[in-house]
Amino acid sequence: MFSSFADWTIQSLIAFDVPDPTTGRRGAPNLTGNHAPNKNAFTMETVFSGIQPSGELHLGNYLGAVRNWVALQDTHTCFFCIVDYHGITQPYQPDEVSRFVHEMAIALLACGLDPDRCTLFVQSAVPEHTELAWALASVTPHGELGRMTQFKDKAEHHPDNINAGLFMYPVLQAADILLYGATRVPVGEDQRQHLELAREIVRRFNARFGETFLEPQPLLSTTPRILGLDGQAKMSKSLGNTIGLAESDSTIWEKLRTAATDPARARRTDPGNPLVCNIYTLHRFFSDEERQEVVRTGCTTAGIGCIDCKKMLLEGVTRDLGAIRTRAQMLRQDPARVERVLADGAFRARIIARATMERVRHRMGIGRPFAAS
Ligand code: SF4
Repeated sequence: MFSSFADWTIQSLIAFDVPDPTTGRRGAPNLTGNHAPNKNAFTMETVFSGIQPSGELHLGNYLGAVRNWVALQDTHTCFFCIVDYHGITQPYQPDEVSRFVHEMAIALLACGLDPDRCTLFVQSAVPEHTELAWALASVTPHGELGRMTQFKDKAEHHPDNINAGLFMYPVLQAADILLYGATRVPVGEDQRQHLELAREIVRRFNARFGETFLEPQPLLSTTPRILGLDGQAKMSKSLGNTIGLAESDSTIWEKLRTAATDPARARRTDPGNPLVCNIYTLHRFFSDEERQEVVRTGCTTAGIGCIDCKKMLLEGVTRDLGAIRTRAQMLRQDPARVERVLADGAFRARIIARATMERVRHRMGIGRPFAAS
């Protein structure tokens, strides 16, 4: 049973393998050239999530978001978007944007996004995102936007760059989600407020113009919080406390070697507490249970030192990131293939986005033909 027209269109596109009218090809070609529509397409919920083209995917992005996206491909109809229009609310260099977008696409594909099982595209390739944002802005209370913690934080830390785009950021996010009838949105704690606003926008729009959108629900992650190498704040490029996925093994080791641990473990002979140590949090992703037990016991009894512990972690990190780097290198050698994946993703996304936008315009009375009474 379809819960909305957009949902129907999404499911139909995937389940019926809609052909591209310009090329005659069906569905999305993937990196292997095959296409395998998901047999559960009719019963799966739709997920939307986006990432800014920051120029580098780091361990925090990977563990906190992208790894979950890869898993969601098996259980949900997924739309993953490189949100370049969100990116321009920060200071940026125009001549770097296309390279950053391309690099982000490579990184996401190398991490395991499969264009056969998800729709991966660039936000600006689907103009309906910004069009819907404007329509939604007309039902979004100004005061609610002013209360957004992220906006207040950014305004406080970057008083020289308080632009209207930053203020409208959550409205564009709502448009991203609602265009595709997404019922689930993977959110971290820092995005919950924006999703709550998106739900409020849906309620206001539906109340004024009739039932049009579904209220998206959060898809809460069980992923432990990944701190930066300083052990203080979330891993973030702007704080310089990240490990980049493309960094060499030796660079990664240099960063891990000096990374913060349990601050109470001042000497090698002091027992530590893995539960307050970010290095142990990383072991939970990169080491098997047996090794995690070695770390827990060794740490709490001072049986191992922090350097021993980090060397053990390094093995898992270099194994997993090495595999991602290898796949990224292969993709980098075939840029046309990556661009084709994005173009096909945008093509599929636009079919849904256009249908949603037509319905929104009709509901709002925009663009209806004049009929003299
Ligand atoms: S031994 Fe490992 S888990 Fe314990 S404080 Fe040192 S780095 Fe952290």
